[in-house]
Amino acid sequence: MLRTGPLYHGGVMVNYRCTAACRHCLYACSPGRGGGYLGREKAREICGVLKQGRIGSVHIGGGEPFLDFEGLLAVIDELGAAGIALDYIETNAYWARVKTARQKLERLLGAGVRALCISVDPYHAEYVPYGRPLLLAKLCRAAGMGYFLWKEEFLPALSGLAADRIHSRGELQEALGRAYIRDTAAAYAIGMGGRAVNIEEEYARRRPARELTDEAPCGRLFSTGHFHVDNQGWFIPPRCTGLRIPLNEAVRGLEPGRYPVYEALAAGGIAELLYIARREGFAESEEGYASKCNLCFHARAFLAARGGFAELDAEHYAQSLEYY
Ligand code: SF4
Ligand code: SF4
Repeated sequence: MLRTGPLYHGGVMVNYRCTAACRHCLYACSPGRGGGYLGREKAREICGVLKQGRIGSVHIGGGEPFLDFEGLLAVIDELGAAGIALDYIETNAYWARVKTARQKLERLLGAGVRALCISVDPYHAEYVPYGRPLLLAKLCRAAGMGYFLWKEEFLPALSGLAADRIHSRGELQEALGRAYIRDTAAAYAIGMGGRAVNIEEEYARRRPARELTDEAPCGRLFSTGHFHVDNQGWFIPPRCTGLRIPLNEAVRGLEPGRYPVYEALAAGGIAELLYIARREGFAESEEGYASKCNLCFHARAFLAARGGFAELDAEHYAQSLEYY
């Protein structure tokens, strides 16, 4: 039976829907994503499994957690009832308007929340005026809510642009330089999964699949540092998004044979994955691939579209390729 280690440093994703569709989004979130918001009952169930996995604290992310504020409070309540500490809540700050944001911050403080992780960078600036994160930071300071701007280092570059409106790729290129997409990815050291596969494909040299294929097991699939659990209770390994296993099986162990793609990658790496994919009709692109993980993404996307693999989130692949 395959097992992960004890869980540590995880995030609870309350939804996939977001007001933005950032070009680096590892989870391929967007305004068009379905799946609803994590409900109280499911949150309770997830908290129970997290406790079995001996996890002491999590952060809350999405999607955009503030799209259902009452739902967010219910999830916070369930974490508290389970004795799981909340490190911070991630948000893109789209909701930062003086009066209503103050009220929300007061309610969060009353619920025991101590910090927000507020996104600000050139990618988010295409969807959220960067004045919103700045306003939210100011309101947090006034209310006594902890926060960190992720990432503050981008503010000097953004300061040459109007803060009260969103900016197109063209405007950002003019202000930040033609390669700002590549440079931002490097500054973040982002994982090139999810929608970021498009960034890698735009900038990296392509290599033939044979040069990228090896049998090295993908240990990340069983890594429990910075894992996520989504609103349906799927465990998502760090960076290898689009792959998933039920959280309770991540904690208690995987029954052999149930998740062939997951098991193949865990045991025999990309070579095993390609064996399955070719058997199902996958043909490698003659243009090549930007990296081993990029080849992995496309082989999995092919299998997800064919159907029949519970460990592959078909919507993830479609959404990753839809926006850029
Ligand atoms: S990176 Fe954050 S704000 Fe951007 S689309 Fe993804 S979840 Fe939404
Ligand atoms: S090859 Fe696939 S499973 Fe392995 S680390 Fe890369 S994305 Fe993850």
